Amino acid sequence: MANTPNLRVAVIGGGPGGYAAAFLAADLGMKVTMIDPEVNPGGVCLYRGCIPSKALLHVAKLLEEAEQAKNWGIEFGEPKVDLNKLRGWKEGVVKKLTGGLGQIAKVRSVQFVQGKAAFVNSTTLKVTKTAAGGEETLTFDRIIIATGSRPTVVPSLKLDSPRLMDSTSALDLPDVPKTLLVIGGGYIGLELGSVYATLGTKVTCVEMMPGLLPGADRDLVLPLHKRLEKLFSAILLNTTVKALKDEKTGIRVTLEGPTLKENDQVQVFDRVLMSVGRRPNSEIPGLDKTKVKVNEKGFIEINEQRQTAEPTIYAIGDVAGEPMLAHKAMHEGRTAAEAIAGHKVAFEPNAIPAVVFTDPEIAWAGLTETQAKEQGREIAVAKFPWAASGRAITLDRPDGLTKLLIDPKTGAGELIAEGVLAIEMCALAADVGMTIHPHPTLSETVMESAEIFYGQATDIYRPKK
Ligand code: FAD
Repeated sequence: MANTPNLRVAVIGGGPGGYAAAFLAADLGMKVTMIDPEVNPGGVCLYRGCIPSKALLHVAKLLEEAEQAKNWGIEFGEPKVDLNKLRGWKEGVVKKLTGGLGQIAKVRSVQFVQGKAAFVNSTTLKVTKTAAGGEETLTFDRIIIATGSRPTVVPSLKLDSPRLMDSTSALDLPDVPKTLLVIGGGYIGLELGSVYATLGTKVTCVEMMPGLLPGADRDLVLPLHKRLEKLFSAILLNTTVKALKDEKTGIRVTLEGPTLKENDQVQVFDRVLMSVGRRPNSEIPGLDKTKVKVNEKGFIEINEQRQTAEPTIYAIGDVAGEPMLAHKAMHEGRTAAEAIAGHKVAFEPNAIPAVVFTDPEIAWAGLTETQAKEQGREIAVAKFPWAASGRAITLDRPDGLTKLLIDPKTGAGELIAEGVLAIEMCALAADVGMTIHPHPTLSETVMESAEIFYGQATDIYRPKK
């Protein structure tokens, strides 16, 4: 094992990848410095990503349920939205969590420097202090790059207008516009579109591909698509945005698509949210003075230990490749810290879960049915419709489903962890089916999907063929 207590480690970026790496490196006895422009660690995830979006989605869920409660004999009056208070609550959530991380850094003796780092060489950084001002040159034994990602801007749709928002400005909730166009039917567009729609905005979503959430399993997307068709004013698939023009009354949008009616080709929206993907932050000044390689997509190239082509430099999280998700970043961060400590580790998960926190939520891990077919994998599909789940009926949400893809030769949000564990443990469908699940819960549907594979689910009768 390396002589870790003497190792001086820098972590550039205080997001989930960066702080997970910094905290473990400190626990393993290294002298750690974490550099980030914000006042506390947190990164995109806590300041302008996962956490504020989930806080607002919680409010959206409450508004939807209050509306739906009419069907259950409970009627509330029209909700009054105090935008200042809502914003304040969301900001309070962020402050509590980021402040907590700042405290944890202190008690773990991680030195937190509020600034932006640039490379001088493979072991030296120049840090420009964002709050205190001034510059500092610091030398380290190892450096972990965890600089994350930022929203992609389509060059032809650049517009210098406050009406055009990205995910960061949309989370600021500047107002509740009458109309909003969401460009991009990925998870960020759908989550934020849902928030605005439940607050009262007429939301149109445009997606260039033939379906929403292009990377997700089609069977899982269907119930969400159906529900969003009701929540949104329109979902325009196979449609591209050709031009945006800022006008007095809003943004004039030119759309193009084979199914678009003539009247819909030019529309004016109060606001437009561009959510067409994210770009890795690999353009770190001075990085070219090291041997670190960046691929054509802008991701830093790394090996299983998350080490770059420059032996003293590691890279983790969004800047180091897909999927750009917080939990992937955190696990990579821990792998890098352990690798630096000389532990025999590798980042090689069999499955990384993905959750879309819309209503209904969608979660998956492993291959989608389409990917399995593309790879020529022989699979059996077991689907358990939630119309047969006691828990789903008590929640008045019978429209969901749980789906397992099973290799016949070998063997949502909260539910998906069980799927990931099953994949990691190489569980057989029988193992999942024989595990006693608490009733009534949605987790039972995972067990019952496995039972369906053997044609013997308790709550579903399938006549023998
Ligand atoms: P980041 O969190 O991006 O942090 C990088 C940090 O590095 C930033 O603070 C940045 O300012 C700093 N930095 C950059 N350059 C420098 C420099 N030169 N010097 C010093 N510091 C620098 N993921 C999920 O898993 N679940 C979700 O529900 C989810 N929801 C999301 C919702 C939205 C709206 C968005 C935008 C993202 C969401 N994500 C979600 C993605 C998630 O936020 C990212 O995958 C995650 O934050 C990546 O972590 P990271 O550590 O790689 O970097």
